[in-house]
Amino acid sequence: MKQDSSKDFFLIPRMEEVPHLLHGFGTGRWKDSDFKRRPEWKDFKLVFLNQIHSDIIQIIDNVPRENLKGDAMITDLPFLLLFIKTADCLPVLVVDRVRRIIAAVHCGWKGSSKRILQRVIQRMKEHYGCRSSSLLVAMGPCIGSECYEVGEDVFQIFKKEDHAGEFFRPHPLRRRKYFLDLKGVNLSQMVSHGVDEKNIFSIDSCTHCDENFLSFRRDKNKAGRMLSFIGMSL
Ligand SMILES: [Zn+2]
Repeated sequence: MKQDSSKDFFLIPRMEEVPHLLHGFGTGRWKDSDFKRRPEWKDFKLVFLNQIHSDIIQIIDNVPRENLKGDAMITDLPFLLLFIKTADCLPVLVVDRVRRIIAAVHCGWKGSSKRILQRVIQRMKEHYGCRSSSLLVAMGPCIGSECYEVGEDVFQIFKKEDHAGEFFRPHPLRRRKYFLDLKGVNLSQMVSHGVDEKNIFSIDSCTHCDENFLSFRRDKNKAGRMLSFIGMSL
């Protein structure tokens, strides 16, 4: 991980090496108006979702006229910047280096319980013929497993999906409370679907602890949203 301090977003070096790929995980200071000011990105159309904590995946094969509803986007089109907005949830960016397919995914606990990231990887394979071995995946900053306290309801939903296991740690003091390892859940979904762990990268900061980032749990309704993005030029 490397922070481009002048520009206020984080980059994954292995993804920077992919020709014609743009990506980044914005800090709390980075706004969409900052993108519009960047002359080298003037050819890109910014694409946002109305995120609803679902497992809805949008395949973008036309430039959308309005925001689509859902929590993941996949495209093979150049000159789109796919955006995910988060404050504690996990943003994930994916690229197939061979087929030149990109995806951006919003992984909160709800989407993760519905295996949205795993389903994105399946869709990339089915729809575009991607291979797991060609994928690079970047997990952005999210709330850490030491800070992400959830209730019994969340634990039971994952358990019903046969998906709880090692990712919930019982709270040492509070009954029926757990700490959820959101990154761990999503990492396991990818690895179990053939993505090589050495091709998965992570910004290992807790949004709740690190004030460079925005945290809904810390700042409540005054927390804004951080912007993660991925796009391709020709
Ligand atoms: Zn923390």
